[in-house]
Amino acid sequence: SSLLVETLYPAICRHLGLVLPGQSGSVTLADVPEDLTHVQLLTQAVMRGNRRSIPVTVIQCFDEIRKVFAQTREAKKRNFGMGMFSFNSSGGGRCEHCDGRGVLQIEMQFLPDIEAVCDACGGSRYRKDVLEVEYRNRSIHEVLQMTADEAFTFFKGARRVQSRLNALRLAGLGYLTLGQPVSTLSGGESQRLRIAAVLAGAPSEDELPRRRSATSAGGTLFILDEPSTGLHGQNVDRLVECLNHLVETGHSVVAIDHNPLLVAAAHHVIEMGPGPGEGGGRIVAGAHE
Ligand SMILES: [Zn+2]
Repeated sequence: SSLLVETLYPAICRHLGLVLPGQSGSVTLADVPEDLTHVQLLTQAVMRGNRRSIPVTVIQCFDEIRKVFAQTREAKKRNFGMGMFSFNSSGGGRCEHCDGRGVLQIEMQFLPDIEAVCDACGGSRYRKDVLEVEYRNRSIHEVLQMTADEAFTFFKGARRVQSRLNALRLAGLGYLTLGQPVSTLSGGESQRLRIAAVLAGAPSEDELPRRRSATSAGGTLFILDEPSTGLHGQNVDRLVECLNHLVETGHSVVAIDHNPLLVAAAHHVIEMGPGPGEGGGRIVAGAHE
């Protein structure tokens, strides 16, 4: 872990001319591939953000969905632009009783605050007249209750929506509800949602400035510190699949892990040891493919 996070990561940042706060190091890298343009640490940390941050906003798909609703005949008749289908901005179509959160914070004396479903919108986050606008017989609220898999089928023909939703499916998150606050996702899901954002071409939350123009078409080195920690069976398979998609789109992945499934999926394996901590630090074995 220290080799990757404390040595390789800062060294590549320096090589790319990226400023990393609070980091210094003296290692200089030889033979860095020319086409490496960016580096990113991918963690399992639960995503920052409140109830307004949801999977479709992270992959920048919600704007496209709102555009689809704004183009319906019913929306045009009422003069509703795409801003009306946002639950974030005041003056739009959100429920003003709960400010588009769908829940109300109730202060309890001597006890932690509790959340209760907003009685004005019934938890839908929207005003009644906005919910009356339907696309293929579904309101914007009903769309946000679909899983990524369901929505992918529902938006057949709306290519820009579908291509972004497909990033969630490729990241093994097809079962995720589009409107679920990201703060409720597990560490493993948060990690895969970050990868989905990369696959969708959306900027990541903790993006370092890029040396060249931003590109989703490869060139980034992703560093993962024990990404399979806390994951079991199917979720390790999903992670491996997800990392394979990153590599297929031209990115590179370096991960430290003990999980045999993850190790078996790597193109190159370097075993460090022989012991942990100060007892290690040497290359014990190396294998290619
Ligand atoms: Zn409300």
